Amino acid sequence: MFKYDPPSELLKDRVILITGAGDGIGKACALSCAAHGATVVLVGRTLAKLEAVYDEIEAAGHPQPAICPLNLETASEKDYDDLAGQLFDTFGRLDGLVHNAAQLGPRTHLDSVKSEAWMQLMQVNVNAPFMLTRAMMPLLRAAPDASVIFVSSSVGRKGRAYWGPYAVSKFAIEGMMQVLADEQDGTTQVRVNSLNPGATRTAMRKKAYPAEPPETNPEPHEIMPAFLYLLGPDSRTINGQALDAQ
Ligand code: NDP
Repeated sequence: MFKYDPPSELLKDRVILITGAGDGIGKACALSCAAHGATVVLVGRTLAKLEAVYDEIEAAGHPQPAICPLNLETASEKDYDDLAGQLFDTFGRLDGLVHNAAQLGPRTHLDSVKSEAWMQLMQVNVNAPFMLTRAMMPLLRAAPDASVIFVSSSVGRKGRAYWGPYAVSKFAIEGMMQVLADEQDGTTQVRVNSLNPGATRTAMRKKAYPAEPPETNPEPHEIMPAFLYLLGPDSRTINGQALDAQ
């Protein structure tokens, strides 16, 4: 497990947007960031799940979050620009952006993947993070010390049979991370890195490995030290790195 002992007020006064914040790793990330003082912007497609996370954060007495329902499969350029406009009016900047939401898609030989399934997965896993990053860049540049995290996977660093468009999409976000990081290097206060959570007990893991006993893997909250490290000031000099949460 990534070793980092975050101070309780690590993310005080930071505004952090997390996609797929209603479930799994994204939910744990939202709860953990809020518990360390951040105002979290909860982005996801299922309003009821986002509301449950909102309620949990409020009940714990952490900074009041914001809810932004957005389906990354259908969101348009205008939706991303509108979101950036709302965040600019409310906060004036963005200190953290966590591209967490993703779909697993078909796990089969690449040559039997239907074009429609390929396009759908690329829309959520690759095109949406691109459009969201582009819309958020002015807000990230307005923050004194902003951090972008692309949540990756081991199959986005070494290809593996039958992992289909999911693996290809994770290679694409690793590439997006490297290009963006190199562009920011020495020119802005924004750092960009990727983080592989490793096997984690979520709905996606269960779908990928239905026969695996869930207790084999850590729960999402257990892998949060790496996320907190990358979102807080201690990682200020880390840019363009592919890190592992476990
Ligand atoms: P889950 O399936 O548990 O959660 C995925 C989240 O993404 C959900 O909140 C889901 O929303 C959201 N999401 C999916 N599609 C869309 C969409 N079209 N628009 C908006 N939100 C959407 O997955 P994990 O928590 O396991 O995965 C989180 C990240 O970690 C992913 O990037 C995944 O690839 C990566 N990862 C996970 C591993 C694991 O073992 N769990 C291992 C390696 C990488 P909703 O709840 O509404 O469906």
